Amino acid sequence: MRNEFAEITRQFVRQNGVRQVYVPTNGYFTERIVAAIENALEEPELDLFVVELSLDGMPHFHDQFRATKNAFKKAMETYDALVEIQEHDQRLRIHAISTATDRNMDEIQRLTTYLYDRCSKMDHHNLAIIRGDRKDPTLHGPHLKQYEELYQNIRRLWAPREEGRYGGIVEPLLQWTKIQTIRNETQVVPCRAGVLAVVVYANGDVSVCENHKPLGNLRYKSFWEIWDSDEARKLRELIVRKDCWCTSETFMWPSIVYQPVQLGRVMLGAKVWQTPLPLDESEKLRVSEEELAQLEQESGDPGINVQVPLDGEK
Ligand code: SF4
Repeated sequence: MRNEFAEITRQFVRQNGVRQVYVPTNGYFTERIVAAIENALEEPELDLFVVELSLDGMPHFHDQFRATKNAFKKAMETYDALVEIQEHDQRLRIHAISTATDRNMDEIQRLTTYLYDRCSKMDHHNLAIIRGDRKDPTLHGPHLKQYEELYQNIRRLWAPREEGRYGGIVEPLLQWTKIQTIRNETQVVPCRAGVLAVVVYANGDVSVCENHKPLGNLRYKSFWEIWDSDEARKLRELIVRKDCWCTSETFMWPSIVYQPVQLGRVMLGAKVWQTPLPLDESEKLRVSEEELAQLEQESGDPGINVQVPLDGEK
């Protein structure tokens, strides 16, 4: 995390009228994260600050996958520290995100139940699909049917905490659109990257989205020079022709929400009026006794309130 993180955030709040900040993190550097968030929350104009802890599976898998010892334990320590901030500042919300691949579907299934039970102040467990460049080229996306089942499981499990959550209503719309996009291998909702959304990288590069090459750099040109350039116009034409597609939530969100016809279409497709059935205890895929003991030993957490099925664990 950049040392100037809080300062940059506060600049955006003051100069650009930003009111909501959403930050994914691996949660490894607890003290630095806490200091930065406490600093950012000193901005009275800020309405919402969401920290999204990125977790790939249960502790053993997560640590191995990230090649970082105690990565999961550190993330949980960060969660506990964030809860303390939240106790006196409700603008801070805590989420988790897991990126589904062909290797961690069972892991996420158990992780989501674990998080729901352990982290009572966590509002949301976001599920993404691996996309773009990856360090390990043998890593693939999950089987689509399996992904759909996992999402429904998470949706049902977390439904009580989704009630009234800002953004809660858009989640099923995003998931439906992602699944349809992969199934059809095209933009199911016309993408508005480069019109309603833009990426500015830490080095000043500006791009319409994370998948297209930068169009220029703010150190050498103004934003509007880059935004109105011929190159940007050609790229927008390419996007309108649907020459590219992806499942990036960052760009799907505005593309759905700010195109009324598409919004209606996606709401119908996602059947948003259907209330998810609560997940029965027997349907929850919980951690085994061994894993639970290991977790308690590693994290020193004395009170994870889970019921471990002694038989029939999936
Ligand atoms: S569909 Fe994906 S790759 Fe194409 S412009 Fe939109 S966000 Fe970028």
